[in-house]
Amino acid sequence: MYENEIKEIVSKSDVVEIYKGLLNLTKKASDEKGRIEGKKKLYYISAEFLIGKLLSNNLINLGLYDSVDKALKEKGLSMAQIEEVENEPSLGNGGLGRLAACFLDSIATLGLPGDGIGLNYHLGLFKQVFDNNLQKETPNPWIDDKSWLRKTNRSYEVRFGTATVKSKMYEIDVTGYDNKTNTLKLFDIDSVDESIVNGDSIWFDKTNIKKNLTLFLYPDDSDDQGRMLRIYQQYFMVSNAAQLIIDEACEKGSNLHDLYDYAVVQINDTHPTMVIPELIRLLTNKGIEMDEAIDIVSKMCAYTNHTILAEALEKWPMWYMDRVVPCLMPIIRMLDVKVKEHFGDNDSLKIIDKYNNIHMAYIDIHYSYSVNGVAALHTDILKNSELKAFADIYPNKFNNKTNGITFRRWLLHCNHELSAFIEEKIGDGFKKDADELKKLENFMDDKEVLNTIADIKHKHKEIFAEFLESRQGIKVNTDSIFDVQVKRLHEYKRQQMNALYAINKYLDIKAGNKPARPLTMIFGAKAAPAYTIAKDIIHMIICLSKIVESDPEVNPYLKIVMLENYNVTYAEKVIPAADISEQISLASKEASGTSNMKFMLNGAVTLGTEDGANVEIHQFVGDDNIFIFGESSDDVIEHYAKSDYSSEAIYDADPEIAKLVDFIISKEMFAVGNKKSLIRLYMEIVTKDWFMTLLDTKSYIEEKEKMLAAYEDRERWEKMMLKNIANAGFFSSDRTIAQYNEDIWHL
Ligand SMILES: *Cc1c(COP(=O)(O)O)cnc(C)c1O
Repeated sequence: MYENEIKEIVSKSDVVEIYKGLLNLTKKASDEKGRIEGKKKLYYISAEFLIGKLLSNNLINLGLYDSVDKALKEKGLSMAQIEEVENEPSLGNGGLGRLAACFLDSIATLGLPGDGIGLNYHLGLFKQVFDNNLQKETPNPWIDDKSWLRKTNRSYEVRFGTATVKSKMYEIDVTGYDNKTNTLKLFDIDSVDESIVNGDSIWFDKTNIKKNLTLFLYPDDSDDQGRMLRIYQQYFMVSNAAQLIIDEACEKGSNLHDLYDYAVVQINDTHPTMVIPELIRLLTNKGIEMDEAIDIVSKMCAYTNHTILAEALEKWPMWYMDRVVPCLMPIIRMLDVKVKEHFGDNDSLKIIDKYNNIHMAYIDIHYSYSVNGVAALHTDILKNSELKAFADIYPNKFNNKTNGITFRRWLLHCNHELSAFIEEKIGDGFKKDADELKKLENFMDDKEVLNTIADIKHKHKEIFAEFLESRQGIKVNTDSIFDVQVKRLHEYKRQQMNALYAINKYLDIKAGNKPARPLTMIFGAKAAPAYTIAKDIIHMIICLSKIVESDPEVNPYLKIVMLENYNVTYAEKVIPAADISEQISLASKEASGTSNMKFMLNGAVTLGTEDGANVEIHQFVGDDNIFIFGESSDDVIEHYAKSDYSSEAIYDADPEIAKLVDFIISKEMFAVGNKKSLIRLYMEIVTKDWFMTLLDTKSYIEEKEKMLAAYEDRERWEKMMLKNIANAGFFSSDRTIAQYNEDIWHL
């Protein structure tokens, strides 16, 4: 297919022209595949879609990758060179946004009618640069003539309390693997003005909604203006969504009384919550009685919870909402009154609390027909502690959908070598039915298979090393162990504990204990701009990397790397190269995690706590193929309930731990770092440590040492790799989406 077009495109003189030619060919090919149609359609609404670069993925899904790759090779070019031309769209933050992107891929691949709905942030989240060993945030523009956006002529009016804007809808094709296409619909307004941003900072006039509405994802919320801007964005997203949903249903013949036969809305975390009152408002405007409107909307909305961190559950002061979305307030008040009529004046169930704060998640739970957690442990914690009051009144609403990842991107695209080798051994069935990976277990004693898997890992270390050097000028030893922790920076994810390990290793080497093999510790993480301690942790890691680098006694054995601006493109390079997958969150705090699944699929072995989906990974691979440490989620939940955790007590009682923590404020660190930041972090860990770093530091160090020793038994390690790959099938997002459809959407 398209052989002649591909030849002609590839014959162009420069890579930008080739890229553009392939972009247009891909758009045309996806048009020719046609749209997925059906009476009932899913609308997956999300503040984030961390879609990554799309060219290779779309070529794979459209069945064109091999022809393009071959034609490029004949010209002495590589796909990697062409991919360099594409900007990575900056429409997401971390796991939640990446999940939304994996889900869109699987929805289309399974042939289900379902579109994503979000916003077209011009400058993205932010681009991370390191300046003086500190994170600095700069704008991340990505929209140009090389982007996948298509302009449509759909447009809606959205009324705020202070202004009315007219939207414009853009679309990005979502190609199904060997299937038709859906779309990601991104709303925007023409009047947004990137020039109001101050230089290369992320500061801008937060009051000017017509100019700033879709500039950034998650604008700074440390003041009232910033928090209100988030509400403007959320309402803009869902008002467009609600109008679109009603229009599309009517075009297909809905009389609105049966809207739930035409549309199902999946609310991804609480950011799109206002779609519930907005749909009710629009239905009542069209003449439907309030009670019926509430009933219709409750039958079409389903909510996914992504966190149990109390500080992450959105609640907005009523006066913000009165100002920004006054037309929704009568409806939200009514929804609150109805809850009180049903359940009495119960504080744990009320939408509007006694401080006049509106709890967004509670709107979702009362007025959706499904509430799901994202891993078995997470859903249990929701039902048994965090949202117990709701699970008691709505036992049938709560359900689990363990997250997944698309194997097209996280195996076929990012690890062609492994994918091709698996195909050679077990055929290509695994590409559509991920459970077939299990057949790899037949090769557990096949030396040649084990060696090949190890060789592919080594090849990816080289590919990553080259990429890292070209990006950041850093060289790594590809014969070292690659120990990787890449994810958003948060204290609960405990990058600081991994850094304490690095200090331990550094001091150990200084004391003359040389490791059997060099270790390369790779971190990648962005910190939220207003999250001071998270930025201090990044600073600590960069300082450690400098100290190790400049010490000739240590640098042959240890290297610490902090990836700059960790994103999907970086993930696709570093994950296939990893030996150790660091999944060390404080048990009970990581809802699921999805990088744990990507690493497993690419043959890395997990070092983790019994948290999130690690629990399920552990069950699949068994005790011998994973390294587990740390206190259980039950124990951690009990520590919080009893308030009996004291990092200071651990610090005082254990000189070995104290030595590691003290290094943060050592003269070596002060020589390369910022004293104020390092002291602040030290104080935080010794006197607060809300996420209990020191609780597990000892057992973490012990387990990691066991793991490094296990690496030296090459055959054992290679078997662990194979076992992990063979058991990754469950974590395909095709499985997750099939379950959503079976239990919730019924498309
Ligand atoms: C998968 C992914 C994440 C999520 O990582 P977790 O370790 O599950 O938090 C974050 N960012 C990027 C770029 C990813 O690809």
